[in-house]
Amino acid sequence: MRWTPAATSTLRILPYFLSTNRAASAAAFAYLSTRSHNRPFSVIAKKVAPYQYYSHSIKPRYDIYNQSFSNTVRFMSDGNDEVAKAKAAKHDGGQPTVFDKILSGEWSSDKVYEDDLCLAFRDISPQAPVHVLVIPKNRDGLTQLSNAREDQKDILGHLMYVAQSVGKKECPKGFRIVVNDGEQGAQSVYHLHLHVLGGKQMGWPPG
Ligand code: AMP
Repeated sequence: MRWTPAATSTLRILPYFLSTNRAASAAAFAYLSTRSHNRPFSVIAKKVAPYQYYSHSIKPRYDIYNQSFSNTVRFMSDGNDEVAKAKAAKHDGGQPTVFDKILSGEWSSDKVYEDDLCLAFRDISPQAPVHVLVIPKNRDGLTQLSNAREDQKDILGHLMYVAQSVGKKECPKGFRIVVNDGEQGAQSVYHLHLHVLGGKQMGWPPG
């Protein structure tokens, strides 16, 4: 990279762009974007693209995968690590999962909706600007969708209803509901959950 005045101004602005202060970062991004001729910025933007952030919450939370607390911002992952997590996941043995800790309040979550039957909270590793999980409070054998019993149609319908209402509210232009089932479905947590994804133009086909 040649050293130019543009490179200098990009480096000056960069800390604001990477800052956890949403307003400062947005302003820096706007400034840098207006200088689209600014080659240093496009080089840097490519590097930081995987780390586009969505600051839904600044509450510290425990990340089951990294076994540490993460706070301030959450980074969109590229999807490949999700498959790795699914392959590494303990398959359905009915053991308690991270969602039990969230339901009991032992671990924090960014709650979006709750009623007697289900809880909806933001995904710790969002795959889209809006990424909410809807889970039944009582797992009752619903470790994965393919374990559903006929007498569970009501709770399944309820989860779907809540998912659409969260989707409609958070993504008025449209959203996607996903249920991953089993290893090849890339399921990593064995407590049934519906992913509500949106806030951007989704691609098709998935995965
Ligand atoms: P799946 O891969 O379909 O089983 O989805 C499990 C989801 O749970 C993933 O998208 C994870 O990012 C999410 N997840 C795992 N731990 C947490 C947590 N502590 N809070 C919120 N979401 C979580």
